[in-house]
Amino acid sequence: MLIDPFGRNITYLRLSVTDRCDFRCVYCMAEDMTFLPRRDILSLEELSEIAATFIELGGKKIRLTGGEPLIRNGIDRLTRDIGSLPGLSELAITTNGSQLHKYAAKFKQDGVKSINISIDSLQADRFRQLTRTGDLELVYRGIDAALEAGIERIRLNSVIIKGHNDDEIEPLVEFALNKGVDIAFIEEMPLGVMEPERDRRWLSNEALFERLSKRFDFAPCEQSDVTNGPARYQSVKGSNTRIGFISPHTNNFCGSCNRIRITVEGRLLLCLGNEHSVDLRGVLRGPNYARSTLKKVMTDALQIKPERHHFYDPNAPQIVRFMNATGG
Ligand code: SAM
Ligand code: SF4
Repeated sequence: MLIDPFGRNITYLRLSVTDRCDFRCVYCMAEDMTFLPRRDILSLEELSEIAATFIELGGKKIRLTGGEPLIRNGIDRLTRDIGSLPGLSELAITTNGSQLHKYAAKFKQDGVKSINISIDSLQADRFRQLTRTGDLELVYRGIDAALEAGIERIRLNSVIIKGHNDDEIEPLVEFALNKGVDIAFIEEMPLGVMEPERDRRWLSNEALFERLSKRFDFAPCEQSDVTNGPARYQSVKGSNTRIGFISPHTNNFCGSCNRIRITVEGRLLLCLGNEHSVDLRGVLRGPNYARSTLKKVMTDALQIKPERHHFYDPNAPQIVRFMNATGG
């Protein structure tokens, strides 16, 4: 079992399968990014080995993320291998949707239960501006393909930035209602290189909730329906759609944190908002590798899982990681 010093049982792994992406979202990447050389990133076999080890340690849920997971060659091999692990209760993927039409049916076959699809705007020009390269039509195609494939849980993810797309929160909810899917609004996180402008463009989820309440009739969701993450959910009365409000700035969800992240370089991150990490790639590539060694390293690593993040503590060091490197 993976239990940390604060008694939290870690059952959820967010596994980054690439740091690369076909988009360059303004809040996630610089326009001109340097990506990791191939030798530094985990092979598909190494990613599968980590997943299998995590499940043997009592892990239940794995989310594949990135960068853009669907541009990793062999992503469908990975979903096949991880999807067949006995003991896994949920395989999930977070994607920008651009390639989803190619894979949705295969993912369903492999047992993928939940797909989060990022969409920050319903206006093609603005979508292109926010993602710098994205084609909104392809994302629509991806959402429809996931629906047609019968993926159990589909959630849209929208990062709302004041002055950029905050006028679209109502249309985005309408869109989710029409499609019969969930949607989560994510506050922009202070990751990567901070531009001074970032503070001014931050918009709190409380403000969004207040505005949306004027238009939609909400009822809070049962706690049992939601995960232990930083999302608070409301359901829209008369529909199956739930609206999540993800506030990474607050750390009142840290007490029930059940997750760890592994970067595509094989760094085990114990907390998104802290620098604590442990190298797993060296273990995997070490002489006489044995799964038991990896289990011990992962179990021991939990001893340094911080109690909470400190994004807004002025005395804490600033985290200079880009989101694509940590696996959002
Ligand atoms: N490429 C995939 C995607 O965009 O869904 C998966 C990786 S992406 C890093 C995961 C999520 O993180 C996306 O929903 C994205 O909008 C969000 N994200 C990226 N940078 C962020 C930031 N600085 N603050 C908040 N959310 C961010
Ligand atoms: Fe790519 Fe996702 Fe980052 Fe956008 S948020 S640049 S789609 S990794």
